[in-house]
Amino acid sequence: MFSLRNIFIGLLAFFLILASLFAVVSARIAENAIINNVIGERASQVKTTGNIIFNSPNFYAQGGSVLSVPRISAALNKSNETAKETLPERSGILFYRLININTKQIIASANEEELNLYFTRLPELSMEAGEISINRIQDQIEITYRSESIHALWMGISRAEILSTNSLIGMQLGLLIGLTLIIGAVLYVAGFYFVARPLSKLKIAMENVSHGTFSEKLPKGPGGGFSKVFEKFNLMLESIASVRERNEMVSSLKSDFITTVAHQLRTPLSAVKWSVKIILDQDFGPLNIDQRTILMKGYESNDRSIRLVNDLLDVDRIDSGKLQFEFAPTDLVALIDNIIDLVSPRALERNVSINFTGKEKGIPQVHADATKLRQVVQNLIDNAVKYSYPGGRVLVTIDRAGDKIVTTVTDGGIGIPKDQQQKIFSKFFRADNARKLQADGSGLGLYIMRRIVEKHNGEVSFKSEEGKGTTFTFIIPIDVGKK
Ligand code: ADP
Repeated sequence: MFSLRNIFIGLLAFFLILASLFAVVSARIAENAIINNVIGERASQVKTTGNIIFNSPNFYAQGGSVLSVPRISAALNKSNETAKETLPERSGILFYRLININTKQIIASANEEELNLYFTRLPELSMEAGEISINRIQDQIEITYRSESIHALWMGISRAEILSTNSLIGMQLGLLIGLTLIIGAVLYVAGFYFVARPLSKLKIAMENVSHGTFSEKLPKGPGGGFSKVFEKFNLMLESIASVRERNEMVSSLKSDFITTVAHQLRTPLSAVKWSVKIILDQDFGPLNIDQRTILMKGYESNDRSIRLVNDLLDVDRIDSGKLQFEFAPTDLVALIDNIIDLVSPRALERNVSINFTGKEKGIPQVHADATKLRQVVQNLIDNAVKYSYPGGRVLVTIDRAGDKIVTTVTDGGIGIPKDQQQKIFSKFFRADNARKLQADGSGLGLYIMRRIVEKHNGEVSFKSEEGKGTTFTFIIPIDVGKK
């Protein structure tokens, strides 16, 4: 709604309204100024001649303008003070004043009607009327008072002049509005090219940055007053890009290092595994209980190390896109049963029971890589047992939802602290309470499982409350051939 374009249009409209108001007001002022000027000019002309003059044929044509004799008489009897108070009103088109040029005071004023009336009687008025006489000499009029010229002046402005002034003002007004429009348009175009366009480029560039694209620089050309901003922005992009490059390099070195170490460790760890296994199987002679217990612990620790090495190699394969998947119809129910059997001895050690519900619902096969899916299910059930309180219960459920299978693993264990939940699928992340309870753990299992599920076009989610338990849910599509 508040786009730059709208703001500009709004400003332009506001500017136009303001300019029109200004034009109307200035037109009124100009009109007054012109009228006053015309009148003032005439007055000054008369002052210099010092005669009673009325010599505009135009003026006659506009309806005449002479004071009536009785009116003049009455006016002359008035004090100057009173006369001033009755300053002429502007009749709209004409107004008149009788002025004593010597004293420069207004003697009388009249409106158009009175003068029109007088004008119709002009021929008769060339006679004496009391002490005032008014004579018409061709198109001039002379007024005398007690046989002396009273230097009277009729001032006015002709209708034609007003009309022409009005049309002049109209023209000026039109010109002003036209100019305003042109200035507005120029401002709009300039604003668009020098402000709105660079700003919108900047906006797009910033959006790119927020989406992680740092390669799209702003053009070097004119950016209005924004050239410097563009330059700085580009510099910022360059430094972000170089920091990213360095980070990527460090992270690739780190990943190379981890992969190399993992590979190097795998062979000796496997060798240890098989050596210990042979001894544990008593192929080289019987073992007493103590020997067996110690060897068993060694065997399990070695196994955990192998798992860690395998996880590290998996993460590397996932990150480099090298993890291969082989999809085939997979019986998820059988797979879960199998894993529960495998994990049960460990669960028993911790006095944790595992239940599995929903398998009676006739769950169809899923479209999956069975080995990878085992990893997912095993990690979830392993975690549920690992993070359960002793004597706790783990519940695994399976259900069908449309063309998808929903599997959940719930425990009543330590839960995940709220403030750490958003990091739970990050590589190597382990929550504080999990570290305290279980020293062992790589923080890689959930990262790997989420990637595997996503590769199955599925999704993973969880709900957890610290100290109360956790439910992990993963959803994957049914095998299309076995609906
Ligand atoms: P690991 O269990 O080896 O630490 P995972 O990637 O499987 O690694 O899990 C990452 C972290 O998620 C765990 O360290 C733990 O903090 C938390 N977590 C996972 N499952 C559970 C669970 N069922 N109950 C509580 N915390 C869990």
